[in-house]
Amino acid sequence: MSNIEKNKWVITSAWPYVNAIPHLGNMIGSVLSSDIFARFCRLKGDEVVFVSGSDSHGTPVAVAAKKQNISAQELALKNHTIIKDLFKKWQISYDNYTVTHSLTHIEFVRNFYKDIQRNGYIFEKEIESLYCEHDKLFLPDRFVEGICPHCEAENARGDQCDKCQKLLTPLELKRAHCVICGEPPVLRKTKHWYLDLPKLQDELDSFIKQNQLIPQNARQMCLNSISEGIPQRAITRDLEWGIPAPFKGAEEKTIYVWFEAVLGYISAVKEWAENIIKDPSKFDYFWKDPKTKTVFFIGKDNIIFHLIIFPILLLSYNKDKSNGEKLILPYNVSSTEWLMFENEKFSKSRGVGIWIDEALEAAPLDYWRFTLIYNRPETSDTSFLWSEFENNIKTLNDNIGNFIHRTLTFIDKQFNGTVPHKLEFDEIDKKFIERINSISYEIGESIKAFKLRKALRDIVNFGKEGNIYLNEKAPWHLIKKDKEAAGNVFNICIQAVYAFGILLSPFIPGTSEKILSYLNVPTSKDLKWDSINENAVKEGLKIKKPEPLFQKLDVQEIQDKLQKLKEQKSNVGGKELVSYDDFKKLDIRVALIESVEKVPKADKLYKMSITLGAEKRTVVAGLAEHYKTEELKGKKIVILANLEPRKLRGILSEGMLLAAVDGDVVSVLTPDKNIPPGAKIE
Ligand SMILES: [Zn+2]
Ligand SMILES: [Zn+2]
Repeated sequence: MSNIEKNKWVITSAWPYVNAIPHLGNMIGSVLSSDIFARFCRLKGDEVVFVSGSDSHGTPVAVAAKKQNISAQELALKNHTIIKDLFKKWQISYDNYTVTHSLTHIEFVRNFYKDIQRNGYIFEKEIESLYCEHDKLFLPDRFVEGICPHCEAENARGDQCDKCQKLLTPLELKRAHCVICGEPPVLRKTKHWYLDLPKLQDELDSFIKQNQLIPQNARQMCLNSISEGIPQRAITRDLEWGIPAPFKGAEEKTIYVWFEAVLGYISAVKEWAENIIKDPSKFDYFWKDPKTKTVFFIGKDNIIFHLIIFPILLLSYNKDKSNGEKLILPYNVSSTEWLMFENEKFSKSRGVGIWIDEALEAAPLDYWRFTLIYNRPETSDTSFLWSEFENNIKTLNDNIGNFIHRTLTFIDKQFNGTVPHKLEFDEIDKKFIERINSISYEIGESIKAFKLRKALRDIVNFGKEGNIYLNEKAPWHLIKKDKEAAGNVFNICIQAVYAFGILLSPFIPGTSEKILSYLNVPTSKDLKWDSINENAVKEGLKIKKPEPLFQKLDVQEIQDKLQKLKEQKSNVGGKELVSYDDFKKLDIRVALIESVEKVPKADKLYKMSITLGAEKRTVVAGLAEHYKTEELKGKKIVILANLEPRKLRGILSEGMLLAAVDGDVVSVLTPDKNIPPGAKIE
């Protein structure tokens, strides 16, 4: 085996925006798919570095931070930590999940652009740009929305139209408006630094044409864009939040987020080499060796940036560099279509969808991983459906769970937990053994072609074949007359159990570990994809006492849990929603004010004696600047009656008076009908 050269991979997933927790659609689009591929390559014995990170710069983060009234850096780094932790919980096996606001990345990007400028691909130009007079800032990219000039879609963003995927500039938008205040912007002069994309058009064209691996639809999209002519694009922005542009005279500007985030694929490997494995030479080893294969897992809206902008950046950097100095061009991309949720678009504001934090609290991780891949939007948009989720897990259990459990319990009970030995094979045995011997190759070919959905479905089918084999051989009858013949069947079945342990490992690693632990196989780096065969498990091996692998999925229960989580977390105008049960805890009652007096040495406070019918209380309230004592005496008011009593200026206040407040105007609530003190508000 040692004479076969190992593949060397840089595997990446698209960088999620740091201002939102990813939802299931984001998860399957790039993150989970790339993890499966990386895990597979490691099992094949390839050298892998698997990286991604949080995209922390750019207008979406700046806009979100502005709305929340905190600094963009604070928002970005806080959310990055949350997302990184969630990916860990989803068992995404990144070698480095970093953030574009890291020192390594910032320094790398600045040096990279200095090189490109030296190579003659950067020029300056004064242009007119959209400016919001209300917010006093330029409106780059997503700070502005309007109507798409190509497809007339509304709410096209200043950098790209979601509907037709075309790249845009803010000035192309029709009826543009500022996303912060909604006002139409004005034109104002500003200077920007441009990347001379047309200069590299021919080189890009031949790169795309030569790379036959790139999926047909993506290639075609790129070739169309190239033949339409690639425009020059500004790489600087009048935006505070971002990587400071390294060009002389551009000190106030930052680099457009899309022109630096893609470079994170490179800097994340640099950071990994320098800071994580502490072997800086590994950076060149991966990114500057033409034998390395880079693969990018992205959503379909990202194709242009990965196959046009990114290669052009690399080509302009590589100019005049010798081999060994050049950064390698993309080897392949795997782009997915959209995942919908019950046939709707995911939407936080409308509460449509499941987010990756709440998913983990509602059902076991491997159920989510399984169902997402099982319905991966590989060739067309798919939808997460509750009914399918339930069916998918049932399919997993019926075909794989049952086969494994039947095999292990039989060996446990009938053979004292010891793998029995084999006999001569008959035709039925041979047929199933052939499957065992060929399954890893077959599934591997699908994964290599990024057909993850097919791969997983074929693994499930293999489970189906296992059950058919068992039923055909009926060892539970066989054992009554010929124990050795029954043992032979289970020697074969245990090889298939081992196969599932390996085959499922990229997809549902937790389950795989459990399966292999029954066979006392340590789940270490030494697991090998190609170790699956008819002799993988030796006779005489002691197995562990099995338990069922999967539970029946109660979709209603999961939906209830999610609903509860949403209630706990959901926001209306930035405030937490309370449930009806929460509201019921409040005891709000009508009270009659019997007497009012000023609290000595407190300008604002009144001490009031009130009655709730049977019960008298003292309440202190800050009303002295708004009501005269005689205006309050004899008034029926509304109080929160079960609030913990607290002392104000030495006086114990036993309730809170409710009032409407608008700036300086304070108005106590009062019932508009004659209703006795003590009446409950509900
Ligand atoms: Zn459009
Ligand atoms: Zn504005």
